[in-house]
Amino acid sequence: MDRIVMRAPAKINLSLDVTGRRDNGYHDVRMVMQQIGLSDEIIIEKTENGVFEQGTGKSLIIVETNSMTLPVNEDNLVFKAAGLIMEECGIGTGIHIFIDKKIPIAAGMAGGSTDAAAVLKGMNRVFDCGLTDERLRELGVRIGADIPFCIMGGTALAEGIGEMLTPLPAMPGCTVLIAKPGISVSTGYVYNEYDGLKNKEHPDVDGMTVAIHEKDILRISKLLGNSLEGVTQEKYPVIRRIKEIMLGNDAMGALMSGSGPTVFGLYDDNIKADKAAEMIKAEGIAEEVFITEPYNVSE
Ligand code: ATP
Repeated sequence: MDRIVMRAPAKINLSLDVTGRRDNGYHDVRMVMQQIGLSDEIIIEKTENGVFEQGTGKSLIIVETNSMTLPVNEDNLVFKAAGLIMEECGIGTGIHIFIDKKIPIAAGMAGGSTDAAAVLKGMNRVFDCGLTDERLRELGVRIGADIPFCIMGGTALAEGIGEMLTPLPAMPGCTVLIAKPGISVSTGYVYNEYDGLKNKEHPDVDGMTVAIHEKDILRISKLLGNSLEGVTQEKYPVIRRIKEIMLGNDAMGALMSGSGPTVFGLYDDNIKADKAAEMIKAEGIAEEVFITEPYNVSE
């Protein structure tokens, strides 16, 4: 096989609790992660045999993308992922990776992590490396805490720094409205502010896993919670406004994803989601708006 096209789905956090801070600055979290249909497409192609980067002895990795803002050098997570697989499997052939970017960047939707996961999985297949998913997850966590989840996919409870995974049953079908305000949020800033809070919010992560097992979409919607939402919302009131519009248009629940600024709403029908989307667009408070659905691994 010389070429493979991989789907790289975004994620939302149905529940995100920050439970501690480690000496190295990493935070312990407990999160219920859910992939959604909104996806990047990653095209991986072998280039001619024996293409080497002059002087480095390393195989050549070329990254291209339709995004005007993404780096295409070592700063791109797919570059790092390709390098890891080449080293692990002793690959000497050049590789070309194209990222068709649709997931908003730096939005709390694991856009970079899912691309890297797709490259780890895709290159494992293209080069017939025979690495297990477990080994791919071990490699992935070296470049990003969300990558192991993106390799597993679907719905899962993530603990530790996000790398300890327990798969969960697929969440029930619904409409997911995504709105990304045109602001950039520093994840470091959000966690720092959160560390300084006297009264920290802790969502009911265990209740959420039970609701998912019971396939109770109303309970899932009611239990949506994110420890970090208060901090980001305080600094960027647009997040509160987007939630208001979503809930005002009969969302079953609405929440900020990750450290933000993306907000999602869960709906039992597309018409309500469409109405909310139109209102959000009319107010000009979101740079990107999508209507999608939960993505399950069997798809
Ligand atoms: P998370 O939800 O895991 O915190 P995020 O959605 O907030 O991630 P990303 O979209 O992954 O954030 O981007 C964060 C940073 O990573 C950006 O500054 C971006 O330049 C860099 N980056 C590197 N590679 C990629 C990639 N393939 N896609 C998106 N961002 C990338």
